[in-house]
Amino acid sequence: MKIWLDDKLVDKEQANVSVFDHGLLYGDGVFEGIRVYSSKIFELEAHLKRLWDSAKVIRLVIPMTYEQMKDALDQTVQANHIVNGYIRLVVTRGIGDLGLNPFLCKQACVIIIAAQIQLYPQELYEKGLKVVSVSTIRNHPMAIPPQVKSLNYLNNLLAKIESLDAGADEAIMYNHEGFVAEASGDNVFIVKNGVVYVPPIQAGSLEGITRQMVMRLAAKENLPVVEKNLTRFDLYVADEFFLTGTGAEVIGVVEIDKRIIGDGKPGPITKLLRKKFFEYAHS
Ligand code: PMP
Repeated sequence: MKIWLDDKLVDKEQANVSVFDHGLLYGDGVFEGIRVYSSKIFELEAHLKRLWDSAKVIRLVIPMTYEQMKDALDQTVQANHIVNGYIRLVVTRGIGDLGLNPFLCKQACVIIIAAQIQLYPQELYEKGLKVVSVSTIRNHPMAIPPQVKSLNYLNNLLAKIESLDAGADEAIMYNHEGFVAEASGDNVFIVKNGVVYVPPIQAGSLEGITRQMVMRLAAKENLPVVEKNLTRFDLYVADEFFLTGTGAEVIGVVEIDKRIIGDGKPGPITKLLRKKFFEYAHS
């Protein structure tokens, strides 16, 4: 396995970072998870834009141009013979001292790992997920903004732990006002009376690239798509409920807090959008 480290491909065994890297010491850095479908990097521009935006917010200078990053990603995918897989692109603040000051870190560190992907088991796509509302709220917008895909995922991790403790597959997180934000690593959608509803980004979610794509695909199918603040009530009485994300793609939710959604199986619009997403990704 070859890993991209800073400015070149190295063997996995040589892909080591310093214990003084602030990515490790403080979770100081940004990342992207990107799919490769049929040897093509999926929605590369959108992922790079999000990475650069995240870096700008945390005042991190990515030590490469867009074109150099694209080339590094291509080289890593090719060197590992990935046809259908997953890329983890990480930019850490780099090596500093034990203090917080990020400006003492001379150069950000770029890591690219291209590998196979571990998806949810097929059975869960057919049966749908069971989720729970968790008490951990999504980051307040005046803390680290939820749109920043930073290396510090502890808030979402706490949510994930709550859901696992409850015996559920996933966590639904709310914001400081009680509106639905997102799942621990996926965006939330519901369907009610033929309308597809999705919480606005300002409710505290990452601007998911799968979310954007699914909204576009739904519109193409002449389904009305409405961005609107949602409450727990809206989720409980939804006709359909699904999550979207790079890893999960589109996956149905059939139970939340012991309330069964629809007839307890992923609904027709969920299945249609999953199929359209698959076709688009492989086209
Ligand atoms: N929300 C969070 C917190 C995420 O980490 C992710 C990515 N796994 C998503 C939503 C979905 O975003 P995308 O569709 O770009 O993968």
